[in-house]
Amino acid sequence: MGNSTLKVNFERLKADIEALSEIGRAPDLGIYRTAFSDNDMLARQWLKGKITEAGLDLYQDGAANIHGRLNWDNKKPSVMTGSHIDTVPGAGYLDGALGVICGLEALRVLNEQQINLDFPVEFVAFSDEEGTFNGMFGSQALTGDISPEWIHSAKNLEGLSLVDAMKQQGLEAMDALSAMRTADSIRAFIELHIEQGPILDSNKVSIGVVEGICGLQRWDISLKGVPNHAGTTPMTMRQDALHGMSEFVTQIERIIEEHGTTTSVATVGRVELLPGAANVIPGEARFSLEFRDTSEAILEELADAFRLTLSSIARRRQLMFEFSVSSDIKPVSCDQGIQEIITKAADAMGHKYFSLPSGAAHDTQKLAAITRAGMIFVPSKSGRSHSAAEWTSWDDIESGANVLLNSLYQLAGNDNL
Ligand SMILES: [Zn+2]
Repeated sequence: MGNSTLKVNFERLKADIEALSEIGRAPDLGIYRTAFSDNDMLARQWLKGKITEAGLDLYQDGAANIHGRLNWDNKKPSVMTGSHIDTVPGAGYLDGALGVICGLEALRVLNEQQINLDFPVEFVAFSDEEGTFNGMFGSQALTGDISPEWIHSAKNLEGLSLVDAMKQQGLEAMDALSAMRTADSIRAFIELHIEQGPILDSNKVSIGVVEGICGLQRWDISLKGVPNHAGTTPMTMRQDALHGMSEFVTQIERIIEEHGTTTSVATVGRVELLPGAANVIPGEARFSLEFRDTSEAILEELADAFRLTLSSIARRRQLMFEFSVSSDIKPVSCDQGIQEIITKAADAMGHKYFSLPSGAAHDTQKLAAITRAGMIFVPSKSGRSHSAAEWTSWDDIESGANVLLNSLYQLAGNDNL
């Protein structure tokens, strides 16, 4: 292994990002490639064509994850990169697509320059990362975190099942059980992704080295009071559920300040009042509470503080308080060694970098359960994502692609890493 750094073919990379961004683009400029939709299938077809054109091995596993492979050898663990080409409705052009195309480009460069590699390299476009049907289907299947029950119960918001959606595209959902890879078949995993937050952009730094991915808890909360006549019930004799909820919401920032970290976030994003009439005192307030952090201990401390605050408000206002936990996702730490490899690659090319956590979920979260995993972020203009306003400068994209390429090169060409 020399000290020279490899470079992507930027014009080719740019042309591919632009070509993929036209698949599923609507007149509102948003991209509509939800998992297993016709547009998703068109994008998959396009990607398969690119893999074949580049002279890489094309492989589709049982979860319909698309793999492009170089130097494939079943007996050796592969260095893996990947992300997703499915989108949320009205998405931007980089979320997921960037990591897949930069993975493709990295393999093309390693192939063309006939680099001697000790290990196979593969990039993967994971199915349904955005959770159109549930969770992260593709990376869950690949890491063995899936069951027949899970596959049968996965549905989209319109009630279409994953099984039927895949059948409409000629795919068999139960085959996903065969997509599982063993831990010893993967040497390491790195995902390149846009930050989807404002930290790199506001600090004018091109490369983010991700330290860990936030876990989260999502609660469904109900405060019950007494629905009553809005005209005849004196203010001092009310058990108004909305007042209880409002008092709690005003406490959220204090709780984060006292029990959280600068990474912690909490959101009430859905609210419903019952019976919901202008002349009736709200008898019940149902609302969601979601909070995230990279530390499991902090998440537990926040959970305790939220619970205590809710129960004391309920007691004082004579309300009934109930909650259920609808999601509990553990935080994940990125591998220290992988973070160092990314840092060194950025250094070697003179790119400024910054260590930061990921507030959004990614396929890397699943891969980290079976292999050494890490992530590279590039800036998102003003932190905008899941929107047609998503944008990253071509300079930053090129920097990110080169850091990914050289990190993969280090891992695949060096026995000691
Ligand atoms: Zn994504």
